[in-house]
Amino acid sequence: MRLQVKNLSKVFRTDTLQTNALSNVTFDIADGDFVAIMGPSGCGKSTLLNILGLLDNPTSGSYLIDGTEVANLRESGRTDFRKGRIGFVFQSFNLIDTMSIYDNIMLPLNNLPLSRTEKRTRVDEAMKRMGISHRSGHRPQQLSGGQQQRAAIARAIVSKPGLILADEPTGNLDSTNGAEVMALLDELHRDGATIVMVTHSQKDAAHADRIINLFDGQLVENLNDKL
Ligand code: ADP
Ligand code: MG
Repeated sequence: MRLQVKNLSKVFRTDTLQTNALSNVTFDIADGDFVAIMGPSGCGKSTLLNILGLLDNPTSGSYLIDGTEVANLRESGRTDFRKGRIGFVFQSFNLIDTMSIYDNIMLPLNNLPLSRTEKRTRVDEAMKRMGISHRSGHRPQQLSGGQQQRAAIARAIVSKPGLILADEPTGNLDSTNGAEVMALLDELHRDGATIVMVTHSQKDAAHADRIINLFDGQLVENLNDKL
């Protein structure tokens, strides 16, 4: 999917504090691109990814997905747009503790117009691809961090979305599990998905076609000049 972001800003306001989390951010991501977002803690990476994933609206600016303006959708409109199109891998996984891994991964399919058989097949395929089929009946807290990360990715890809967004998908993993997750993202990329990944790791960023550097809510050409 093609993403076009223009003059995007996000301001968080509380009674006493105003944070300019993103200031006038402009970039294009072509269909099928694999892009890494990098920058120091607190520079706005998650805020940007959440907006790209239609989990939040910008305060101002334009955001086109495949030519459709989505910057000002209401929450219900964002939810509808996301369904089946956008897979989001949360930094803290956001798996639901009271549900089995199987049911967690089924969640994005619940309201899609697919037969029950097709839904079951998709969940089985996603679990198999992520190597967690044997954990199907377990609760999230019974899994290792690496397995929870895989379950979170399985849930993000089960609807076969054209856009996959991942917030530090290797941040909680040891290097072996991290390398495996990166290999999976490479595979999804080869299969044609557009991928945007937040990362702190230069090694992970090397898997991407391109790096978007953020510093203090703004795009910068070369992050090393700022650090
Ligand atoms: P990063 O992911 O790069 O570490 P974030 O996007 O999470 O950074 O945060 C960017 C800035 O916006 C930080 O100063 C953070 O404290 C602030 N921020 C993020 N989310 C909120 C929120 N919901 N309310 C208020 N401030 C927020
Ligand atoms: Mg973050």
